Amino acid sequence: MVQLSIKDVEARLGEVKCAICKGNRFGIDSRTVAKGDGDWKAICLDCHYIFPVYTDMEFYLQTQPDIPYILKGIACQSCRHRGVSLDFRAVISVRESVYFVTCGECQVKFPEQSFLESFE
Ligand SMILES: [Zn+2]
Ligand SMILES: [Zn+2]
Repeated sequence: MVQLSIKDVEARLGEVKCAICKGNRFGIDSRTVAKGDGDWKAICLDCHYIFPVYTDMEFYLQTQPDIPYILKGIACQSCRHRGVSLDFRAVISVRESVYFVTCGECQVKFPEQSFLESFE
């Protein structure tokens, strides 16, 4: 499992939009990182909206046995290969949860809307 850096996560969050102001500049609260449990808080730099970012994917995959099958079915946006690995996920609003994944074939990283939560 790759150790995520705050910088990486902040940069990749920039690929999604804030649920409130639709901005795409986010910061990670380093105090939540220091706790070491993998549950981080992201803050919109424009409107200060806060949402959770979960980085302990090993634990998540253990508790959500369907997720590995879903990841196998996600097609890469670049090479169309199916099958990605999950790096972290962000719950941007009650209706919007995003998986940040890496293609197993060409290693392109991209955000994927989580369809689990979107069907609720
Ligand atoms: Zn915002
Ligand atoms: Zn690919």
